[in-house]
Amino acid sequence: MSYKVTLIPGDGIGREVSLAAKRCVDATGVKIEWEEQIAGEEALAKFGTPLPEQVLDSIRKNKIAIKGPIITPVGKGFRSVNVQMRMAMDLYACLRPCKLYKGVKTKYSQVDLVVVRENTEDLYAGIEFSEGRDKTKETIKCIEKLSGASVRQDSAIGIKPISITASKRIVKFAFDYAVKNKRKKVTAVHKANIMKETDGLFLKVAREVAEGYRCQVEFEDRIVDNMCMQLVQKPELYDVLVLPNLYGDILSDLCAGLVGGLGVAPGANIGDSAALFEAVHGSAPKYAGLNKVNPMAMILSGVLMLRHMGETDAADRLEKAVSAVVAEGKDVTYDLKPDRNDPTAVGTSQMADAIIAKLKK
Ligand code: NAD
Repeated sequence: MSYKVTLIPGDGIGREVSLAAKRCVDATGVKIEWEEQIAGEEALAKFGTPLPEQVLDSIRKNKIAIKGPIITPVGKGFRSVNVQMRMAMDLYACLRPCKLYKGVKTKYSQVDLVVVRENTEDLYAGIEFSEGRDKTKETIKCIEKLSGASVRQDSAIGIKPISITASKRIVKFAFDYAVKNKRKKVTAVHKANIMKETDGLFLKVAREVAEGYRCQVEFEDRIVDNMCMQLVQKPELYDVLVLPNLYGDILSDLCAGLVGGLGVAPGANIGDSAALFEAVHGSAPKYAGLNKVNPMAMILSGVLMLRHMGETDAADRLEKAVSAVVAEGKDVTYDLKPDRNDPTAVGTSQMADAIIAKLKK
């Protein structure tokens, strides 16, 4: 069987790491026709928009895409292309497995967590009002009238929608993932003690969904600040975490830190009609074009893609090859060496070569 996959190289280090992932996925023998599409800075320069419609059309058609990181200007410029893509395709579940591989430097000995983050609402919904604008003043007036609370006139306002619909489907996704992957426990993470209505609703829905899985998967909940401390102190106690968007974003970086940092953390954004695979890390502009950064996160995102396609054997072989190269510690990038200045560190493409060589053994 042959697949068609949309490949979006991305900005900064994106092209280097996505090429490494593409080569490794090809080396498994799974037949893929790659359809390259550009988004981000290159697309902005060429088409006047960082997210041309043809990129979304390609993902809609192929239903599977793999993407390098894309720059998001801070506080100004275009809206996050990553967020726009997730919204446009309704890729509501962000899946980020954080697993320790032997040979990766970390302070922990046992971590095998899966972060399931809601991707479409919460403070990420993009509903914001700038300070000083007429609409903002109107919004403040309206909020004061409806809630009785007072809001400073020089405020900017952000809206946090949390719905039953989105909460139900993400918690269900987390439980279905747990069942399918023989996981024992799902922990819902929230701040319902303070945000009683929004996070309170998320927790209420999570408890209701959990009832339906009672006989198969254990359920518990944690307040987000406590969860951060628990993860740092005893990550081995946790299994699958399900969170609203913003906490999910922050905790997935924290969990990436537990297993060795951004260079090793893969991810996927999954909806009912398409799936987009990408590393947790960003475009690391200072390393762009240097053939220096670790391709592991992107290659493991390729492993997630193969699993999603049902190519379990290829996924297992590729993961095993990555794991073997990292465990040997010879043909690995600077960040995986005990000393970051180790002159024996190899480049991005050489690490991919070593993984491909292992695959072929
Ligand atoms: P970043 O992840 O790009 O880089 C932070 C640091 O992490 C780097 O300086 C580097 O030391 C390390 N790092 C990242 N990837 C690595 C790798 N593969 N190998 C080794 N080390 C690695 O985070 P940032 O600097 O906050 O963001 C840069 C840009 O990327 C921003 O514009 C941001 O918006 C964007 N971003 C995009 C995505 C995405 O496309 N999904 C995700 C996060 C950030």
